[in-house]
Amino acid sequence: MDFNLTEEQQLLKKNVGNFAREELAPMVREIDEKGGFSWELWRKLAEMGIQGLIGPEEYGGAGVDSLLTQVMVIEELSRYDFSSAANIVSNWAIIRKLVNDGKEDHKARYLSGLINGEIVGSFAQTEPNAGSDVASLRTTARPEDGYYVINGEKCFVTQAGEAEFTIVVVRTSSEKGKNAISALLVEKDRPGYIIGKKEDKLGFRGSTTRTLAFDDCRVPASNLLGDEGKGLKMSLKSLAIGRVLTAAQALGQAQAALDESIKYAKERVQFGRTIGSFQLIQGMIADMAIHLESARLLTYYAAWLRDNDQSYAMYASMAKTLATDVAMKAGVDAVQIYGGYGFMRDYPVEGIMRNVKITQIYEGTNQIQRLIIARELLGEKRSFRELYGQK
Ligand SMILES: Cc1cc2nc3c(=O)[nH]c(=O)nc-3n(C[C@H](O)[C@H](O)[C@H](O)COP(=O)(O)OP(=O)(O)OC[C@H]3O[C@@H](n4cnc5c(N)ncnc54)[C@H](O)[C@@H]3O)c2cc1C
Repeated sequence: MDFNLTEEQQLLKKNVGNFAREELAPMVREIDEKGGFSWELWRKLAEMGIQGLIGPEEYGGAGVDSLLTQVMVIEELSRYDFSSAANIVSNWAIIRKLVNDGKEDHKARYLSGLINGEIVGSFAQTEPNAGSDVASLRTTARPEDGYYVINGEKCFVTQAGEAEFTIVVVRTSSEKGKNAISALLVEKDRPGYIIGKKEDKLGFRGSTTRTLAFDDCRVPASNLLGDEGKGLKMSLKSLAIGRVLTAAQALGQAQAALDESIKYAKERVQFGRTIGSFQLIQGMIADMAIHLESARLLTYYAAWLRDNDQSYAMYASMAKTLATDVAMKAGVDAVQIYGGYGFMRDYPVEGIMRNVKITQIYEGTNQIQRLIIARELLGEKRSFRELYGQK
């Protein structure tokens, strides 16, 4: 399916796919076993210009705004290396936040490095007691003599410890509600910026995930991104793009599950025949392909809507939910097709199953996506907190 892609898009997709297969795929197993972000892979990605694809040209980026193009790049990376694809999506999100809401000084200090792969940034919103219910976050930033003094704890921060700075979502006022939440850029060498425990994860192991704590951590008031009290609005603004790109991560892994299943079904012989000649196996492969192509169409459609200035937030949620659920099932079914070998780390399919699980959880869990879709369809405008009893 080429979705009427331009020649340029098709060439980019092909080149990224070739690069990921030749340069990234051979290192995936070792990185998965070790666990943690690989600067070596990051530099390879930078040589291909992937970090800078969406970055402004004045900072060395390629300035590609098309979400459909971004989706294809992420899909191809993820087909061969899930973690690199997911790390790039998180890097692009940081670039977007700085471009949209950063001060000129922030852009001058960090954009070139983020684009040429010399540095990474991180984003800390989730807290031990505030995940889906973002508005309940408790980390505070108290204004004091031209500074903000930050106190609190964040968890599950992708690339914390590797990152040059973190965009921290904080409460800047004791008032209740979303207008009390702001975003601050916090440099890693600020006193009181405490890098915590490195998590040992099920999948997405080619990234570093840590807790972060802030103990009277002072940052100048000029480190505020956007306007005070608009932090949640800023987070929400970039969510739809993140969801379409999460769908793309899932599509790449679902494609890998299908590729591996077809290959193995043609090779493995039982009862004197290849297992691909058994109709029950054929059914699994056919379903995998049907669901994958449906999810791909919906994801490309959501991206196309955005690229054509049409309302797409609900489609972004639909694409995220469908593609990630499809990829999860494809991973589980690929293991089934491989039988006992599928359960072994020497074979490629158990890793797909472990990796794609996270796509159903981050960028808003699939339960939350379904609530967003239903709320839109039912014309329900109240917030989740009002709907679920907490004012
Ligand atoms: C590997 C990894 C990387 C991450 N990276 C980052 C990062 O860089 N920065 C960051 O800020 N966060 C990050 N996160 C956090 C991630 O976004 C959250 O885990 C996610 O939002 C869910 O929050 P939670 O884990 O607290 O689950 P909870 O919100 O506690 O949810 C638990 C369960 O309850 C369900 N649930 C919750 N509310 C409702 C409801 N109203 N109706 C129905 N069901 C509901 C959920 O769907 C889920 O099944 C990352 C997480 C992981 C695991």
